[in-house]
Amino acid sequence: MQATIIEQFAAIVGTGNVLTGAEAASYCADWRKQYAASAQCVARPGTTEEVAQVVRLAAAQRLAIVPQGGNTGLCGGSVPTGTRPEIVVSLSRMNRVRSVDALNNTLTAEAGCVLAELQRTAAAHERLFPLSLGAEGSCQIGGNLSTNAGGVNVLRYGNTRDLTLGLEVVLPDGRVWNGLRGLRKDNTGYDLKQLFVGAEGTLGIITAAVLKLYPLPSASATAWIAVESPARAVELLAALRSACGDRLSAFELISRHCVEAVLAHRPGTRDPLAERSDWYVLAELTDTGEQAALAVMVERALDDCAQRRLVRDVALAASQAQSAALWQIRESIPEAQFKNVKHDVSVPVSLVPEFIARAGIALDAVFPGTAVFCFGHVGDGNLHYNIGDAALVAKASEVNRIVYGSVAALGGSISAEHGLGQLKREEIRHHKSALEMELMQRIKQAFDPQDLMNPGKVL
Ligand code: FAD
Ligand code: ZN
Repeated sequence: MQATIIEQFAAIVGTGNVLTGAEAASYCADWRKQYAASAQCVARPGTTEEVAQVVRLAAAQRLAIVPQGGNTGLCGGSVPTGTRPEIVVSLSRMNRVRSVDALNNTLTAEAGCVLAELQRTAAAHERLFPLSLGAEGSCQIGGNLSTNAGGVNVLRYGNTRDLTLGLEVVLPDGRVWNGLRGLRKDNTGYDLKQLFVGAEGTLGIITAAVLKLYPLPSASATAWIAVESPARAVELLAALRSACGDRLSAFELISRHCVEAVLAHRPGTRDPLAERSDWYVLAELTDTGEQAALAVMVERALDDCAQRRLVRDVALAASQAQSAALWQIRESIPEAQFKNVKHDVSVPVSLVPEFIARAGIALDAVFPGTAVFCFGHVGDGNLHYNIGDAALVAKASEVNRIVYGSVAALGGSISAEHGLGQLKREEIRHHKSALEMELMQRIKQAFDPQDLMNPGKVL
C-alpha cells in the first residue's frame, strides 16, 4: 500500500515531528491572530539534510512551503494563506550553535536558535551579539534573517543584514547552498546571501548563518530624557553622537500617549519623571572602558544639551535594575495598545519631525481627536506609528492612505522593520516602480520557478 503524504514526511523527520489538526493549530495562526489558515501538516526537521528532503518531497507533491521560526512576525508571513495546499516547515528543532570563533568575532548558528540564546552564547565568550528586539525571547535567528530584523541597536551595529557574513540555505529544488563563510571581505561576484536576507522565506529556507560578534561592553548608561518636540529629539541625537560617538547604541523616541498606555496596561509602572512632557527619548550608551568614565562623559554631554535647550529633564538610571525598568516601559508599548491601526515606517532621520507633524495634521482632519501612539527607533528614522483603537481597524485602509501619503511625500518606506508578508503585499505595488517590482519578480522566478516558497507573501 502507498504511504500517505503525512507518512512520507514522518519517514523523514520522525512521527512526533509531523503535526496535524489541533497540534498544528498554533503554527497556523500568527502572533497577532490576524492571519490563520490550515496546512496539510507542520514538519519539524532536525537537520539541514532533513530540511532538504522535506523540500524535495513537498516540491514533488506541488505543496507550497511556509518556513517558520518563532512565529512572532507581524505581517502574516509565517503562516499558511489557505489558498493552495501548503505545509509549514518549522525550524525550531534546528537550534544548535555550531561554533564560536572568538578571534574572528563570529558565531555560526542554526536557523532555529532563539535570539536571546545567541545573545547569551556570545556573552559567555565575552562577545556581544547586538541584535535586540522585544520578541527576542521567542523569535529565531532564521526569522530575524528572513525579515532583516532591526530593533534597538541598529543605530550603532546595523540591522540583521549588516550582521550577516554567511548563510546555508536549502533551495526550492532541495539542493543545499553552503555559503557559510566567515569573511569580512569577499568580492567574488554577486552577494547571494543578501538576497535571502529579508526575502521572508520566498527564495529558500535558511538553515544556518555566520554572524558578526562585537566586544562585550563593560559600561553602560541609560537615560530617560524629556524633550520639547520630535525636532529637539533629532537635534539631541546629533549632539549626543558628536559628544559620545559610537557609544550611543540606542535612541528611542516615545510619545506621552505611549507612556500613558503603558501606565494603564502595567499597574505598578513608575513614571520616570515627575513633570509630564509630550515627548521623551530613551537613550542607551555603552563602552568597553570604566563605568565611571562613561558616566562622566554622558552627564557632561547631557548638561551641555540642557544648556542648549535640547533637554528639558533627565532621569539617569543609577543601577541595572533602574535601567531595566526604563527599558521595560519601552518594551511594553506594543502590548499596551495591542489592537489599532499599526504602521512601521521610515523616513530620513532629518525628516522625522516633519513626518510626525504632517501625518498628525492629515489624520486629525479626517479623524479628529484620534490617539496617535508614536514611538520607535528615531536614530534610524524608523517610527512605529499606531493610530486609534480597535474600533478604527475597520477604517484601516483610509488611515493607511493618509499615513502612507505622508511617507511617500518624504521619500520614506512603508515597512522599515516588519516586512511585507501578506499584510503589505498589495500596498507595496503603490510604492515601488513597475521596474523594481519586475526585477523582484525575476529574482523570484530564477530561484523558485515553481512558486513553492511562501507564495502569497511579499510579491
Ligand atoms: P517568523 O515570524 O516565524 O517568520 C517571519 C518571516 O520569515 C516569515 O515570512 C517566514 O516565512 C520567514 N522565515 C522564518 N524562518 C525562516 C527560515 N529559516 N528561512 C526562510 N524563511 C524563514 N521586528 C523588528 O525588526 N524590530 C523590532 O524591534 C521588533 N519588535 C517586535 C516586538 C514584538 C513584541 C513582536 C511580537 C515582534 C517584533 N518584531 C520586531 C517582529 C518580529 O519579531 C521579527 O520580524 C522577527 O525577526 C521574526 O522572527 P521569527 O523567528 O518570529 O520569524
Ligand atoms: Zn521596532
